[in-house]
Amino acid sequence: MQTSTRNKLLLKRSLAAVWHPCTQMKQHERLPLVPVARGSGCWLYDFDGKRYLDAISSWWVNLFGHCNPRINAALAAQLEDLEHVILAGFTHEPVVMLSERLSRLTGGVLGHCFYGSDGASAVEIALKMSFHYWRNTGSPGKTRFVSLAGSYHGETLGALSVTDVALFKDTYAPLLRASAQVPSPDWRLAEKGESPPDFAVRRAHALERHFERHHAETAALIVEPLVQGATGMAMYDAEYLRRARALCDRYGVHFIADEIMTGFGRSGSFFAYEQAGIAPDFLCLSKGITGGYLPLSAVLTRDTIYQAFYDDQITRGFLHSHSYTGNPLACRAALATVDIFEQDGVIEANKAKCGRINEAAREIAQHPKTGNFRNTGMIWAFEVKSADAEFSRRFFEQALARELLLRPIGNTVYFMPPYVINDEEIALLTQRTLDIIAVL
Ligand SMILES: *Cc1c(COP(=O)(O)O)cnc(C)c1O
Repeated sequence: MQTSTRNKLLLKRSLAAVWHPCTQMKQHERLPLVPVARGSGCWLYDFDGKRYLDAISSWWVNLFGHCNPRINAALAAQLEDLEHVILAGFTHEPVVMLSERLSRLTGGVLGHCFYGSDGASAVEIALKMSFHYWRNTGSPGKTRFVSLAGSYHGETLGALSVTDVALFKDTYAPLLRASAQVPSPDWRLAEKGESPPDFAVRRAHALERHFERHHAETAALIVEPLVQGATGMAMYDAEYLRRARALCDRYGVHFIADEIMTGFGRSGSFFAYEQAGIAPDFLCLSKGITGGYLPLSAVLTRDTIYQAFYDDQITRGFLHSHSYTGNPLACRAALATVDIFEQDGVIEANKAKCGRINEAAREIAQHPKTGNFRNTGMIWAFEVKSADAEFSRRFFEQALARELLLRPIGNTVYFMPPYVINDEEIALLTQRTLDIIAVL
């Protein structure tokens, strides 16, 4: 079959049979789907060989490029041994090795690891564990959760309850359990002349006032450390996390770090919370955990919390499961991903790369049509001044026409490239982004 025919046929069949995520499907009457036949490094290709630079790491999951030879090899080897086995009552090498290594990456502070299949299920697990811990330890009244304004923690009902993005939440509000939101330390909201750390301190006072009134019924605070992703890459100072940690300790509230996006080096350190010199009580991981290969999530917690479930009575245990919990293939992909971090000194190498990307993006940062240019680790974002209600869609289309996969959130354009992006690709990304800003 002719390749272009193959592209067209795929789009037609996709619209007829696939319900695509986070999409008003009718929009595809005007906006064609993008067929992808294969991937290599930072690039995606259709059947004609038309290519797109994956500058958002395919929804923030891909770390070391598409079809990475090392992860491919690890998966191929695992396929020869074991594809899957029930994790209740059984165990296997990949899940044990991954649990040990993740724990080591927290400095051993979080000693036990529970598995789910995606980010939202990790959040559900952390919320349920926190509540259940308090119940097991004689504080059954601690049933409430608090999150930051604009936070995103996933879209299943429990996770959506602590999410605060109107577009995703409002329709389902009658189905959700109420949770509290405290003001975000997002430095774009600071007063003129107020530094990000000063603003973080002021916002921490708001959290303190919330705890003063509500600590007795509050089980946990859940935060996206340093960067609130889905609300539009809101960035804030680590001082907020230090203060929040201290307040959680003072008021007897768990600290849940949702590092589903920020984990695995995305924030510049392996975990974002490290930059505050603190440790959480629960750590939710997903997205980059398998290098963007397979669905997997993990919730790490302290052994003291684990011990509160360890009992003769069955119902004091954490009776939660997903069919694919601890899938060996996914764990093996995660182990290969952690190997690459160690073997290639990725955290250090990314620091230099980050500097080069900031250099290449200088004209974007200084452009009269952009504002709030910001960077944390391997995440860049800026707002584009535009009154166009369709800005995000039009930018996306202009980007595709220039071989770029970019998906602005409202007027916020962000880069979240795979860590293997090279200098030539960086130049292409920043130059063509400037071209789009010029025409929009
Ligand atoms: C993506 C994301 C989630 C949800 O993960 P899914 O795998 O999409 O369910 C939760 N929290 C944060 C911070 C995320 O970025």
